[in-house]
Amino acid sequence: MTVLVVGSVALDSVETPFGKAEDVLGGSGTFFSASASHFAPVQLVGVVGSDYPVDKLAPLRQRGVDLAGLEKADGESFRWRGRYRHDLNSAETLETRLGVFSHFRPKIPEQFRTAPFVFLANIDPRLQLDVLNQVEKPKLVACDTMNFWIESRRSDLLALLDRVDLITLNDGEARQLTEETNLVKAARWIMKRGPRHVIIKKGEHGAFMFTERSVFFAPAYPLEHVFDPTGAGDSFAGGFMGYLARTGRIDDDNMRRAVVYGSAMGSFAVERFSIERLLEIGTSEIRQRLTEFRRLVAFEEELPD
Ligand code: AMP
Repeated sequence: MTVLVVGSVALDSVETPFGKAEDVLGGSGTFFSASASHFAPVQLVGVVGSDYPVDKLAPLRQRGVDLAGLEKADGESFRWRGRYRHDLNSAETLETRLGVFSHFRPKIPEQFRTAPFVFLANIDPRLQLDVLNQVEKPKLVACDTMNFWIESRRSDLLALLDRVDLITLNDGEARQLTEETNLVKAARWIMKRGPRHVIIKKGEHGAFMFTERSVFFAPAYPLEHVFDPTGAGDSFAGGFMGYLARTGRIDDDNMRRAVVYGSAMGSFAVERFSIERLLEIGTSEIRQRLTEFRRLVAFEEELPD
C-alpha cells in the first residue's frame, strides 16, 4: 500500500561537533520519503523554489518516491539552519526561512487522494489541515509537529489533533504543547483531543507509544558515532508508516513492530549528514539492525527462589 506524505522539502545548513554542511537536502518530507521508501511506495507533496537542485532528488525517484506532487515555485526554497552542541538530543534553530513555503497551498494530485496511509510531516498545521480536506478516507492519518508551530499556530494545531489518528512528537514538544511535565499525563492530554495513538520520542533514549489501554517502549539504537541528529524524527516516522503500509495492518501488535522499525530507521539517519545514509542502506542492513534491537531488549525471566 502507498504512503502519502506532505512536508517540507528544504535546504539545510547544519553544524554538529563533528562537522558542518551547507545547503544540503533536508526537510521533513525528504527525510520521511528516504526512509519510508525502503518499505512501500511513497507519494511526496511539497514545494521547492527556483534555486532547488531538483536533480539531487533523482535517487528518491529511483527508490519509488513519486514526485508528481512536488511543486516548483518562483522564489527561494525553504531553508533551515541548525546547530547541535554536545547534547545531540536537541537542535538549536539558528534560522528558519520559509521562502516559497509562505505562499504554499498543497494540491494533492488526483492519483494521490486515495492513499491508505497519510503522513502530515512537520509543516504549518494550516497546510496539514488543508491536506485532510483533499484526501479520501485513509486507513490511518498521522502527523508530526515542532516547537515553531506549537508557539505560532497553537489553535490550528489543536484543530488538527481532532482529525488525526496518531501524532509523533518529541518529549520537549509534548511538554510544550500540553504544559504537563509528566509524559504519561501529556500523552493523556493529547489523546483526549483526538489521536488514539501518541508517540513521544526521547531522542537517544528511545520512544514511547501510548494508547488508551497500553504503553509500548522501544529503545533507540546505542550508536557509538552519532554524526548529525537532523531528520531522526522524520526518518523514525518514515520507518513507522512505511512498515504499516508495507504490511497493511494497524492492529496493536503491528503498530508496536512499526515503532521498532521507526527506531531502526532513525538510527541510520543520524550516521551521516542529510539523507546520505538512508540512501546507502539496503534490506540486509535494516534486517541486521532489527536483529540487534531484539537482542538489546531480550532477557529470560527468572525469579529468585
Ligand atoms: P527532525 O526529524 O525533527 O530532526 O527534522 C529535521 C528537519 O525538519 C530538517 O531537515 C528541517 O529542514 C525541517 N524543519 C525545521 N524546521 C521546520 C519547520 N518550521 N517546518 C517544517 N520543517 C522544518
